[in-house]
Amino acid sequence: MVDLKGQYEKIKAEVNASVLEVIESTAYINGPKVHEFQKQLENYLDVKHVIPCANGTDALQIAMMGLGLKPGDEVITADFTFAATVEVIALLGLTPVLVDVYPDSFNIDIEAIRKAIGPKTRAIVPVHLFGQCANMDEIMALATEHDLFVIEDNAQAIGANYTFNNGAKQKAGTIGHVGATSFFPSKNLGCYGDGGAIFTNDDELAHTIRGIVNHGMYKRYHHDVVGVNSRLDSIQAAILSAKLKNLDSYGKARQQAARKYNKAFKDEPNITTPVANPDCEGICDTCDCHVFHQYTLKVKNTDRDALAKHLNEQGIPCGVYYPIPLHRQKAYADERYIEGDFPVTNALAKEVISLPMHTELDDEQIEFITSQIKSFVNS
Ligand SMILES: *Cc1c(COP(=O)(O)O)cnc(C)c1O
Repeated sequence: MVDLKGQYEKIKAEVNASVLEVIESTAYINGPKVHEFQKQLENYLDVKHVIPCANGTDALQIAMMGLGLKPGDEVITADFTFAATVEVIALLGLTPVLVDVYPDSFNIDIEAIRKAIGPKTRAIVPVHLFGQCANMDEIMALATEHDLFVIEDNAQAIGANYTFNNGAKQKAGTIGHVGATSFFPSKNLGCYGDGGAIFTNDDELAHTIRGIVNHGMYKRYHHDVVGVNSRLDSIQAAILSAKLKNLDSYGKARQQAARKYNKAFKDEPNITTPVANPDCEGICDTCDCHVFHQYTLKVKNTDRDALAKHLNEQGIPCGVYYPIPLHRQKAYADERYIEGDFPVTNALAKEVISLPMHTELDDEQIEFITSQIKSFVNS
């Protein structure tokens, strides 16, 4: 699905030198490289505070701890996402409230959020799925109207821009009260191990979170709140600094691949290509509204699982994100949920298939992948 080796080869000299520098320095934890990367990312995102941590799941959990959410508080999030989003809500004793998504963007449905808001609702967690933002104009308006926190799960959309209705642009993950991201190797900005970060423009929240990631310590050996141990290694920070410089060009390479896929599938009645900003179809060179963490098709009149098997037999990797809606997972099923409330997620779970998407895809690979899919879907 990704070509990490090909990408590494292009930045090898820089990465190797800076990793060796960390090893020689022995500043393995919270060394200068971590601080350097933090500053670079704050600059890139134009956000006041980046707090690095150990992984994206921790980032979400710590963000919720920092906001002071309490057991019993309800948190609304999308039914169609990776389990980490809902896992941390449940882990903190908060009550997850899963809602349906839109069939075109795969992102959380605003009307469904509106319906789910009740007296115990404290927060909304939009997930910017597959590389493009949820409707943040509407989500922020709902949050203001009902006095809710917004925690952006930005694990899949780092580098994407969100364009507000008034034309202003802002980076994904910096719009809500707090944002969380992951540097898992296959994410758009991935390190060579685990890593994550929390973003916020709120000074007080940033201070609280800096203590939480470090055992609740604000002064050495004074533990004011219950915290966690969640750190980004210096070695990973050094790798991330080298890759951050290339993040925009990585995004362009992904958009370019998406454009070629779209073109190859444009006359296929049984294949729906990803839909983004209608003005640019998500693949324009200037707005960067979609960074294609995944390139996800919907297939009709086709056995999706048989297609996936066929592609694998041809040596083409593919993925199904996500085959089971969260409200039907054993860990998160709840009698409050009514099947009729999830028509879109239930349908998507049967129709979606994600194709290889990375910065090193060439025309020959795209031609082979798309011709195999077309011939299977039309057979
Ligand atoms: C990857 C991912 C996470 C978790 O990140 P980790 O670094 O693997 O813990 C959370 N949410 C979404 C939507 C993700 O894709």
